[in-house]
Amino acid sequence: MDPAATIESTPTARVKMEVFGCQMNVVDAELVLGRFKGLNYGETDRYEDADVVVFNTCSVRGHAEDKVFSRLGALRPWKKERPGRVVAVMGCMAQREATDIRRRMPHVDVVAGTRDFPKLAGLVDRVRGGEGPFLVIDGEERPDIERSPTSRPRPFQAYVTIMRGCNRPCTYCIVPTVRGREISRPVDEIVDEVKGLVDDGVIEVCLLGQTVNAYDGQDRGRTTLGTLLRALDRVDGLRRLRFVTSHPSEFNDDTWAAMAESSKLDRFLHMPIQSGSDRMLKAMRRGYTVDKYRRIVDRVREVLPDMGIGCDWIVGFPGETEEDHEASLRICEEIGFSQSFVFKYSPRPGTKAAEEHADDVPTDVKKRRNRELLAVQERVSLAAHRATVGETMQVLFEAKSRLDDSKWSGRNPQHRIVVAADERIRPGTIADVRIEDATALTLFGDVVALR
Ligand code: SF4
Repeated sequence: MDPAATIESTPTARVKMEVFGCQMNVVDAELVLGRFKGLNYGETDRYEDADVVVFNTCSVRGHAEDKVFSRLGALRPWKKERPGRVVAVMGCMAQREATDIRRRMPHVDVVAGTRDFPKLAGLVDRVRGGEGPFLVIDGEERPDIERSPTSRPRPFQAYVTIMRGCNRPCTYCIVPTVRGREISRPVDEIVDEVKGLVDDGVIEVCLLGQTVNAYDGQDRGRTTLGTLLRALDRVDGLRRLRFVTSHPSEFNDDTWAAMAESSKLDRFLHMPIQSGSDRMLKAMRRGYTVDKYRRIVDRVREVLPDMGIGCDWIVGFPGETEEDHEASLRICEEIGFSQSFVFKYSPRPGTKAAEEHADDVPTDVKKRRNRELLAVQERVSLAAHRATVGETMQVLFEAKSRLDDSKWSGRNPQHRIVVAADERIRPGTIADVRIEDATALTLFGDVVALR
């Protein structure tokens, strides 16, 4: 449907979008809101003002799915209250549970899977015109959608999805099933999108993909993530660039070289290890050993010595012993990660791990292991942060500090949170900040110069 063709005929309606899950969902939500905007729909934060509610869902943990079902159930009275209201569901859970969603929640009007979400706004509009319900989950391989440069949470920052799907076989993960195989966008298309964003005031871009360093620009063998980094390095006005999430086995020499050459690349690499035990890594089919991971970190630090490395962990994977867990604690300390996200294993129906192994680590043990890993990370972060006291670093300020609104909060190139007070700071200001104090979560400093 051509959005422009309907602007005149579509009555104004307001959309409440709720996002569950990862950053890719946040971007997809922005893209869909852009499409709604093209249909002359507005946006609202309040359910009571909304004519349309869209849930962009996540399937990574069972808890996330339960929450969506319960929230969808709670929308029944909301929908009854005003005739013509529309409920739509998109994202991984829409792909995986489409028929179940319609069976359990018949008041849901549109279910659009991970390759069909670009159609969602048009389908909602047709429901408001009296058609539907619609359930679409068999879409084309590559979801093309025009980005509306104005639909993003902060005017100076943007996430750009450069690839979708995943070809890897991690036994616990539902992503390859719900998102399909890897498919990259061409380099030129991404560069054009970034130029458009920069023209619209963006200075920082984060490139997104489930295994972002497997990017091949639909030209495997000749194009790598390195090719894209070099092309984006030439975009005038773009000041900061980063990419998430990297898989340790997907780097290549060209990408390392481009990372070293880049004048815009942040010093932060999110590269999940998941466990410090080779036995667990094998059971998860992660495709590397702890020693191989260590060697990749050495390579990162050889190329870019000041690189901060962020990490994901799974605690309580089936069969995980105290010995395996202690190996995770040791490698967390040894590598000195700059941040860790710890997840308690949750079996996902349809995954190899759920089908072949009992979820045999008790919840209280998972919780304790979670706490212990975070405690190591806190110690490591505190030591690293204290070592920066006295240093001057470049900070991109994002918003008022949540704890003290006389101060501003931003990120340094290692993606660490820096808080400072200076009346010249605005959202999007880049400044040199001298660090005066530090906790495990935050650096505190004074602005010495604006950039
Ligand atoms: S690399 Fe593994 S964990 Fe990450 S999305 Fe692919 S299958 Fe899932």
